[in-house]
Amino acid sequence: MKELGFRKETAVGRYLDPFNNFQEKQVTFEARYDEITGVASRILPYRVRIAQKPDVDSYLEKSPESLCPFCPGLFEKLTPKFTPDIIPAGKFQRDVAYLFPNAFPYDQNNSIAIFSSRHFVPLDELTPAFMQKGFKVCGDYFHRMAQMNLGYKHCSINWNYMPPAGGGLIHPHLQTMAGLKPTNYVRHLLTSAQNYAEASGGNLWRNLIVQEREAKERFIASTGSISWLSSFAPKGMAGEIDFIFQEKSSFFELTEANFDELLNGLAKIFTYLYLNNFMSFNMSLYAPMINDKHFWVQGKIVPRFEINPLGTSDINYFEKLHNEVICPVVPEELCRELQPYFS
Ligand SMILES: [Zn+2]
Repeated sequence: MKELGFRKETAVGRYLDPFNNFQEKQVTFEARYDEITGVASRILPYRVRIAQKPDVDSYLEKSPESLCPFCPGLFEKLTPKFTPDIIPAGKFQRDVAYLFPNAFPYDQNNSIAIFSSRHFVPLDELTPAFMQKGFKVCGDYFHRMAQMNLGYKHCSINWNYMPPAGGGLIHPHLQTMAGLKPTNYVRHLLTSAQNYAEASGGNLWRNLIVQEREAKERFIASTGSISWLSSFAPKGMAGEIDFIFQEKSSFFELTEANFDELLNGLAKIFTYLYLNNFMSFNMSLYAPMINDKHFWVQGKIVPRFEINPLGTSDINYFEKLHNEVICPVVPEELCRELQPYFS
C-alpha cells in the first residue's frame, strides 16, 4: 500500500515571557499538510477553551419568530417555489420538513431545507429524530433531479448552524447543491482519489481508513458503514470531524439505515459540542450523483465560534488570505475526547 500523504514539520517559536520574569520561553507547533485534501494547518499546543456559551437571547431578540421567513407566519408568503415541471406543489415536503429554492442562489440548483416549523433548536436538541425528515427531503430533491435526467454529477448537503458559522437565520436549515461540476474543494478530493488509483491501483478512502484505524491516533469510531475520523489537518480553528461511508460511491446508494447511522453520529458530535460550550458549526456531505468508483460519499463537521469578549471571528488573514488554518486543538486530542461519545 502506497503511503498516504500526511506531512508535518515541527517548529519552535521563542520569546522572553512577561509572565515569567522575561525568561526565555519556547513554544513548539506543527505545520501540517494533507496531500489528499490540500489543507495546510498549524497545530498549536496551547488549547483555547471556550469558557461560556454565546448569548442566544441576543440572537433571538434580533431575529425573532415574527420576522422569520421559515416560521409558519411568513413561510407561505415569503419562501420561493419551484416551477411546476420540477414539482407541481412548488415545494418538496416530508411531514414537517420542506425544501424550496434559495432566494439568494449561488449555484444553478441551490435549495434550502427546513426540518420543522421550530424557530430555534439548541444544539442538544438536534436529535436524529428531529433531523431525519430534513435530510430525507434533501434526498427526495436529489432523486427528482436524477429522474429529470439533467446529467448532474455532484451533490452536497450543507449546514451553517447559527451566525458564527455563517447562518443568516436562526431557524435550522440545510442547503443543497446539485450540478454538473464539483466545487473547488470536492474537485481536489476527486483528483486525489483518481491520482491515487492510477498510481497504486487502490481506493484512496479504503486505504486511508485502514491506515487511520491502525494508527489509532485520529480514528474516532466505526458505527457500521461509517468511519468517523478527526482530520489530520483541520479546516477549522476548533478542529474537524470527518465521516466516510464505506463502499458508497453515489448518493443513491445510501439506504435509510445509512442515514439513520449518519444522524446518530452527528447527534453524538453535537452533544460533545454542546457540552464544550460551542453553539455553531458547518457541515457538508459530498456525494457523486453518478457512481464514481474512486470516490466514497463523505462529509465534514467543523465547529465554529466567536472569541470573547469582542466576538472576534475564528477566521483571520491566515486562513482567508494564506489558505492555512491556525488550529489550537490537537486533532489527536479531539479524537480521544470524542471517542467516549461513540462507545
Ligand atoms: Zn423561524
